[in-house]
Amino acid sequence: MNTKYVFVTGGVASSLGKGIIAASLAKLLQARGLRVTIQKFDPYINVDPGTLNPYEHGECYVTDDGAETDLDLGHYERFLGVHMSKANNVTTGKIYHTVITKEREGAYLGKTVQIIPHITDEIKRRMLLLGKTGNFDVIITEVGGTVGDMESQPFLESIRQLQWEMPEDDLMCIHLTLVPLLRAAGELKTKPTQHSVQMLQQAGVHPDIIVCRTEMNLSPEIRKKVALFCNVKPGHVIQSIDAPSIYQVPLNMQAEGLDKMVVDHLKLECKPEPDFTQLKAFLDKLYNPKSEIDIALVGKYVELQDAYKSILESFVHAGAANECKVNVHTVHSEFLDESNLEETLGQMDGILVAPGFGERGLEGKIIAIRYAREHNVPFFGICLGMQMCVVEFARDVLGLKDACSAEVNMHSANPVIDLMADQKSTTIKGGTMRLGAYECKLDKNSLAYKIYGSEIISERHRHRYEFNGSYLEAFEAAGMHASGKNPDTGLVEIVEIPSHPFFIGTQFHPELKSTPEKPQPIFVSFVAAAKKYHNA
Ligand code: GLN
Repeated sequence: MNTKYVFVTGGVASSLGKGIIAASLAKLLQARGLRVTIQKFDPYINVDPGTLNPYEHGECYVTDDGAETDLDLGHYERFLGVHMSKANNVTTGKIYHTVITKEREGAYLGKTVQIIPHITDEIKRRMLLLGKTGNFDVIITEVGGTVGDMESQPFLESIRQLQWEMPEDDLMCIHLTLVPLLRAAGELKTKPTQHSVQMLQQAGVHPDIIVCRTEMNLSPEIRKKVALFCNVKPGHVIQSIDAPSIYQVPLNMQAEGLDKMVVDHLKLECKPEPDFTQLKAFLDKLYNPKSEIDIALVGKYVELQDAYKSILESFVHAGAANECKVNVHTVHSEFLDESNLEETLGQMDGILVAPGFGERGLEGKIIAIRYAREHNVPFFGICLGMQMCVVEFARDVLGLKDACSAEVNMHSANPVIDLMADQKSTTIKGGTMRLGAYECKLDKNSLAYKIYGSEIISERHRHRYEFNGSYLEAFEAAGMHASGKNPDTGLVEIVEIPSHPFFIGTQFHPELKSTPEKPQPIFVSFVAAAKKYHNA
């Protein structure tokens, strides 16, 4: 069987959940025994989203191999439980970077370098790249942006060429649109979908399936009408109705027959039915919690939920594992001060201080940490959150009043968090942090070891600063224990306070490896600790 390709485009509006539809289809095919991966092609000119502010594009998701990627790759990993890589996220910036580098090398032999064929050739090469590894039966490609945007034209043109070049049953296109409900008229409207498909067809791409995002069930008449006007087979117009959990969407898509349509069109050899035993068990626990807790998520990007996507999803997984509903309350660290501390955090069963960059909101994070430490509230700090619990401890317990991270004050007399040695000579900002998976060795006599149950773990990173080793002895003597270190460099990866019921900070980002089927152990234990605190 040849490797098969499915392209997913979006129309009418952004944020319709193209990533979730792509991931749900992948999940359905995987559950039928196929080897599937997903890749995302983003139309922006940044080489990767690593240099984007979370307000622009949500969280930057990091893979094991150290790629800084779009947050949809997080959904792909969470749905499929397989690892994404650098090859799974391509941007216009990456495409142009490759083509321009080749041009400077003289690789085009004097030719005029143009969007067609040079840019589209490079796009197509990358669209087919993972298929060439022989590791996959199906490659699903999600095209970022909305059909009609000027910047996604070269991607659509590349799909058009592939549709023209490849055998019909090796490739298919799915178009996701919105069918809005006009409340005053009580009617669902299909015109935007018709226009969006027209635009797609103007680009030469014809969709095989149209998925309509809707708040209300689509009647057979509406489905027929969309099929007729959009030139797809009757029955190939399906609905994606708002679901209580994103993990429900694969089941909803199965009920709509999406997997069957794709399997038939691509002539895939696979199991007749997907096996969803594990997914259903997870949803059952998620929908039937036996208890409820409140967690404060303290960060500075809280206006935008997508900025902390993986953390929020990790709580969904860990909540289900504990059969507990986790209410996450976002707390803006910039506005947290002594006057509102008790009122904001007093009712919380756990406090998580989020990752981040720069000075804004740091003091709020520090007082939230002090509150958790002094009141024995379960605490979990991630990356910058871990670094700030080191600063807080230095100031309040070690008495180093001016203790600081060098990220904020390069001239502090006590930089307990310092720039990593290999970062000192770095001037380029893109792709130069300490990125991706590194091993960490746990002290057997620690909370971390109790949580993971093994001595060597591997987690993902994205940072430039680290625990300053010259203070280690002082911290250990005063009651903050470095329970996890990089086995090669000694870099402190985990700190904890053994005298506190649950206080842990990690330099790495555990939220990047949590899935419904394998919830991340620190999140699971943190929720359990918060449950215990709540009951006490
Ligand atoms: N700004 C900190 C650093 O670069 C923490 C980064 C993060 O939280 N991801 O080390």
